Amino acid sequence: MIQLFIPLNFLGFVYREIRESLINIERVFRLMDQPPRVVDRPDARPLVPDGGEVAFEGVSFGYGADRQVLHEVSFRVPAGHKLALVGSSGAGKSTIARLLFRFYDVDGGRITIHGQDIREVTQDSLRAAIGVVPQDTVLFNDTIYYNIAYGRPDAPPEEVHRAARLAHLEEFIQRLPEGFDTVVGERGLKLSGGEKQRIAIARVILKDPSILVLDEATSSLDSHSEQAILGALREIARERTTLAIAHRLSTVEDADTILVLEHGRVVEQGTHEALLGANGAYAALWRRQQRGEG
Ligand code: ATP
Repeated sequence: MIQLFIPLNFLGFVYREIRESLINIERVFRLMDQPPRVVDRPDARPLVPDGGEVAFEGVSFGYGADRQVLHEVSFRVPAGHKLALVGSSGAGKSTIARLLFRFYDVDGGRITIHGQDIREVTQDSLRAAIGVVPQDTVLFNDTIYYNIAYGRPDAPPEEVHRAARLAHLEEFIQRLPEGFDTVVGERGLKLSGGEKQRIAIARVILKDPSILVLDEATSSLDSHSEQAILGALREIARERTTLAIAHRLSTVEDADTILVLEHGRVVEQGTHEALLGANGAYAALWRRQQRGEG
């Protein structure tokens, strides 16, 4: 019996490990399928995120030696503020988010959170301080409850229910055949893109991080779900330092600062009104989008 127990226990461990890495894949924003290459320094300390002020100071980076993707990118997001990253496809928006997670180390400059260089803190504490709402949420083949509670597995049921309510999932869950116990995912009930995104929002509400990264992609949703999701996102971004990767400009107007990237360089920085007034790259992007050209 003991002999049987040990390997089964071990298998349980492996299963949990695989689940862990699955959620890591979700955090990796699609493109990063390789394991992280960075390691903690021997003297790494836990991050003290406080209000989560984020600063990039002259950050340069390339995925390989042959091509630089970011060129001396600098910005500061004070605690509780929202920064929107805009720019055409391939400009480097998602790369900035990956560097903040320290999936890669910068080649030049530094990234700090509340004044601490992220290379000097443990990766676990760094990632615990940041919540993500990705474009594509990975669901486990498990109950809705499990999928929400994944944000903080030891959360009491009242908090899981509260997170579902704040993420505007309550009505949807009430309509399910077995409510919170309904199995979703690959072999269970398939959820729409918007429903999955609301589960990601509920997970973040439970995790309660100081810093939030939003990979905004609401274009596949009908406008009713888009409004519900944008409302929920605005709610969780309040009082958190937020970096929003905006693939469309409709969601950036309320940002405290908009950072416009072109080929890995910051070409403009300011509020929506100031950038429209400056009549430069942002104003051109805005006009193009108003004309419906993507
Ligand atoms: P989009 O709006 O299309 O998502 P983006 O602004 O987020 O684009 P990034 O994903 O940051 O752009 O990509 C910036 C550049 O880095 C692109 O030229 C891209 O091809 C390149 N790149 C991204 N990921 C990798 C990778 N894992 N390996 C090599 N190059 C990469």
